[in-house]
Amino acid sequence: MSELIDLTAAQAAERIRAGDLAAAELFEAYRERATADELNAFTWVAESAPARNGEASTPLGGVPVAVKDLFCTEGVPSQSGSRILEGYRPPYSATVVEKLADAGAPLLGKTNQDEFAMGSSNENSAFGPVLNPWDRKRVPGGSSGGSAAAVAAGLAPWAIGTDTGGSIRQPAALCGIVGLKPTYGACSRYGMIAFASSLDQAGPFTRDVTDAALLFRHMAGHDRRDSTSLEFPGEIELPKREDLKGLRLGVPEDLTGAEGGIEPGVRENYNATIQLAESLGASIEPCRLPHAPQALSAYYIIAPAEASANLARFDGVRYGLRVDGDKDLVTMYSRTREVGFGDEVKRRIMLGTYALSSGYYDAYYGTAQKVRTKISEDFRAAFERFDFIVLPTSPCVAFELGAKLDDPLAMYLNDFLAVPMSLAGIPAISIPSGLSEGLPVGFQLAGPAFSESRLLDAAYALERAIGFDGSRARG
Ligand code: GLN
Repeated sequence: MSELIDLTAAQAAERIRAGDLAAAELFEAYRERATADELNAFTWVAESAPARNGEASTPLGGVPVAVKDLFCTEGVPSQSGSRILEGYRPPYSATVVEKLADAGAPLLGKTNQDEFAMGSSNENSAFGPVLNPWDRKRVPGGSSGGSAAAVAAGLAPWAIGTDTGGSIRQPAALCGIVGLKPTYGACSRYGMIAFASSLDQAGPFTRDVTDAALLFRHMAGHDRRDSTSLEFPGEIELPKREDLKGLRLGVPEDLTGAEGGIEPGVRENYNATIQLAESLGASIEPCRLPHAPQALSAYYIIAPAEASANLARFDGVRYGLRVDGDKDLVTMYSRTREVGFGDEVKRRIMLGTYALSSGYYDAYYGTAQKVRTKISEDFRAAFERFDFIVLPTSPCVAFELGAKLDDPLAMYLNDFLAVPMSLAGIPAISIPSGLSEGLPVGFQLAGPAFSESRLLDAAYALERAIGFDGSRARG
């Protein structure tokens, strides 16, 4: 059985297609591991494989997928890590979940996350923190920490999560796996419980780059139920590149300088990875993104502003929790929200409501939107000279549980290197690039909108040269 768990998802699918492995056997092996989860990575595990025929002939071969709690899944708890949605079982499934099931990736379980995807450590979940499989005293990153920990620990062959301001890339980095944040609009947001609608984007968590390309290929595409989704131009290719010859990589010194607070061990690993890229034939040069250091400030206005509007629907009437339902309406609304939301969510609702209130709208929200435009323009200019921008994914390795819990600003700084791409809506991938103090470090590549195939290709060449071994986390 341990041999089964060591297969990548693409390898497992190949064996099933060749008739050497039964999809049901693979599903059961993972179901057992997910059920015995000691990391609190899962909030719900499927009891059995869905009855479907002909899995072996589907593109994903019946290899099961773990899904972040905030994706609506028909008849299955979908609580976005929040008490306010306790017991909520939606009557429909998110488009990406449906697309994956149709392509032959059935639902293995739902994964733990920060409440409404707000956080960088998974400590904001109403269902308790997730533990990092590399060191159980440490956080897995967030907000998609359950998906990242599950894949790293071999409790799931692959998983999906969402990235609003780093929530795929940062936990992927801290858990030593691959995480792709696609171009905004590449995957439908229909059925994703919203945090910040102009930023939220679904993407894959996988053990390697090939799996990421394979899973993403079956997530992407226009959906008439999400007017911001787009048809992906061209094919999403499986990666095959063996070198980086002719590629121009930009080092964004505005982000990698002193302001980014990059730990020495992470910086050392980053420099070594850059050298490796050079030895594979890439040219490396400094590049300017002058407004990118302001991205974090703009993000923490825009995301809470959108969240304050999106979360207005949770009032005790339509979904999940209701407190003091026998009292008057306003008491019921406010008591339900008081009891149902955690501290971080309340903080963001207050920040967002304030930033949008009359008299402050122009000063805060309007200004943040202007900064957002400037950041997009910076990237556009950079991509005239460079194929990709390369930088660390996270300034630090996985930190200890509780270390940043009392200091929201220290927690927000984790996203300094991830948020600029989110505001610009461009794709970025994190791949494991080695260890620092025994813990995984992530290397991030970002490209222009819809450059995913090229991005995956470059990441693949680098992945082969790095030769990262994540097997220790699978125990
Ligand atoms: N950590 C960031 C936040 O708390 C990003 C979260 C995300 O991408 N969902 O908002």
